[in-house]
Amino acid sequence: MSKPRALIVEDNLENAELASFVLDEGFIVDAVSDATDVMRKVASFRPDVILMDIKLGGGDGLSLTRQLKADPATAEIVVIAFTAFAMKDDEAQLRSAGCDAYIAKPIDVTRFADEVLAAMAAKAQRPHQSGDGHLDG
Ligand code: MN
Repeated sequence: MSKPRALIVEDNLENAELASFVLDEGFIVDAVSDATDVMRKVASFRPDVILMDIKLGGGDGLSLTRQLKADPATAEIVVIAFTAFAMKDDEAQLRSAGCDAYIAKPIDVTRFADEVLAAMAAKAQRPHQSGDGHLDG
């Protein structure tokens, strides 16, 4: 089985490098630091999962997530909010923007790759968000 493709969207170089380093063993990894480059990178790299920083130069992660989830070509990409603050209200905001999960920073290097895989597995088990849950016939 081929490795999943992970795109790290993060404007803090240290965080981006650490995340890339930790994911490198189990994923094909690419990274982008500026919000204005994200859509072009998604189109060329075609990630299975995106680690999405929320506060970015050039834009913000929530708007990018809404954009990705509104486009059928990218709606199935698992988006994991990559955020330093994940209080209850923030989580509701992340979910309503379309984030499938979140991982708090700073990352726990011993668990990070497993957390990403777990979010992908959870998403794969859920019915598509656009569906109403009915099974016809
Ligand atoms: Mn940031």
